[in-house]
Amino acid sequence: MKLKPFKNESYHNFSDPKIFKVQNDALKQVRRKLGKTYDIIIGGKKYQTGQKLTSFNPSDKDEVVAQFYKGTKELANLAIETAAKKFEQWKNVPAVERVKILLKAAEIAKKRRFEINAWMITEAGKNFAEAEADTAEAIDFMEFYAREMLRYADKQPITPLPGEKNELTYLPLGVGVVVPPWNFPFAILVGMSSAAIVTGNTIVLKPSSDTPMMGQLYYEIMKQAGLPAGVLNFLPGSGGEVGDTLVAHPLTRFVSFTGSMEVGIHINKLAAEVQPGQKWLKRVVAEMGGKDSIIVDNEVKNLDDAVAGVVASAFGFQGQKCSACSRAIVDAKVYDKFVAKLKEEVEKIQVGPAKENYKAGPVINASAERNILSYIEIGKNEGRLLCGGEKAEGNGYYIKPTVIVDVDPMARISQEEIFGPVLAVIKAKNFNHALEIGNNTIYGLTGAVYTNNKEKLARAKKEFFVGNLYFNRKCTGAMVGGHPFGGFNMSGTDSKAGGRDYLLLFMQAKAMSEKVK
Ligand code: NAP
Ligand code: MG
Repeated sequence: MKLKPFKNESYHNFSDPKIFKVQNDALKQVRRKLGKTYDIIIGGKKYQTGQKLTSFNPSDKDEVVAQFYKGTKELANLAIETAAKKFEQWKNVPAVERVKILLKAAEIAKKRRFEINAWMITEAGKNFAEAEADTAEAIDFMEFYAREMLRYADKQPITPLPGEKNELTYLPLGVGVVVPPWNFPFAILVGMSSAAIVTGNTIVLKPSSDTPMMGQLYYEIMKQAGLPAGVLNFLPGSGGEVGDTLVAHPLTRFVSFTGSMEVGIHINKLAAEVQPGQKWLKRVVAEMGGKDSIIVDNEVKNLDDAVAGVVASAFGFQGQKCSACSRAIVDAKVYDKFVAKLKEEVEKIQVGPAKENYKAGPVINASAERNILSYIEIGKNEGRLLCGGEKAEGNGYYIKPTVIVDVDPMARISQEEIFGPVLAVIKAKNFNHALEIGNNTIYGLTGAVYTNNKEKLARAKKEFFVGNLYFNRKCTGAMVGGHPFGGFNMSGTDSKAGGRDYLLLFMQAKAMSEKVK
């Protein structure tokens, strides 16, 4: 099988009224489908339970997006056992066949792109461009991992030995539990699941309870693409209730998790306990939180660019990105000027419903809103409120983009992940000090440096300890293929999603050697 080299999907331009209308029409279509109930799917069979989980629209908190039957411990066990049985067949399906299914799924997602965006705008509160980037990233993951699978399925280089014929092949691991977050509700769910499936594993997918509809769409697409029943088992349900059963099951071979540090640590610990009847150590890939910084140096090329980069990174999707800039570390020489321009730009951001494509929409749910507002109160005592600092109007979880300046590097709002539209601005004495502050948290996901000085950039390359580092640009918006993604320290296991090493996490290598005359 020969494919064209991988290329990232391009984005639609929503400032073109024609494109805007297409997205708006898709939103109207989706509105007609709101409020339906969806089944749990195990081995291709549908299951209903006594309890439902409701997905609400965060832009209009009384609007029900969809309902899902809630997974139980019994169904969690059944899902793992069904996936284990199916694995015995799926592992023998040639890689090329698995790749074809994934490419077909990518085709379908391309055709349904505006519809997927529309569900995401409604369920997660993303504006049009943010939803579009998320859907495009999901398509990129499918296209990229399809090509990667072909590479791994090909003959692998190995040192020849006299008198022997040697080879090395990659085998799938077994049953995987896939647990995505709500903040890249399609891209991360599709990326983790597709990587596991294309490498020959079977999975139980437990979508985030805030965005289960995005999992339903993926299930539909994979089914339509020809994925056999039982390879992808879809089990919505509360992480707290079914998560432990899935992770602890002795037939679970690996867990692919993206979410908060607290849940990641819990999963890692539980997965490490060998259960009766278990024959392996489970592999855990856990991508977790961030406390990401942008350093603005005194030798910055253009201060306006730096302000724009900080604003985009801090307030895109309301700061609800693991890669979001939550700390601007600014050299004392340009600090006052930076803060004045920042205030001007942040105050321009308008907040409102995602379906009306406001620049800033709601945060995801009531508990996120409470948590963020409580951090804002903490921040008001730890620094000086520059702008925002309170709820914004509307029947959703709206919070004004908030900036707190003159924050101490060790303050709570400088150390703890807030995951909302809150930016702390910290004054640095010089570049050394800025780097020191940049590395002073338990996290290490993304970072950026704005400077015109090449030596400082070279130093940051060596010393700024983050998995994804950017220069003179924003610290969000990693592209599949170009910016393999994953963080250091408590930000995760540095899986580098969208990179050449990623699929290895879902496979094990077998070396074979035959004596020849
Ligand atoms: P979360 O609360 O940790 O939830 C993530 C997933 O874990 C959800 O599906 C959740 O299910 C599930 N879960 C909860 N408890 C569980 C348990 N005991 N066992 C198994 N699964 C369990 O995180 P989130 O709020 O969805 O996402 C935001 C976090 O993700 C932030 O910290 C952000 O930095 C991080 N993130 C990291 C990356 C990265 O690449 N490093 C990317 C995106 C997001 P329920 O929804 O049912 O609770
Ligand atoms: Mg919701």
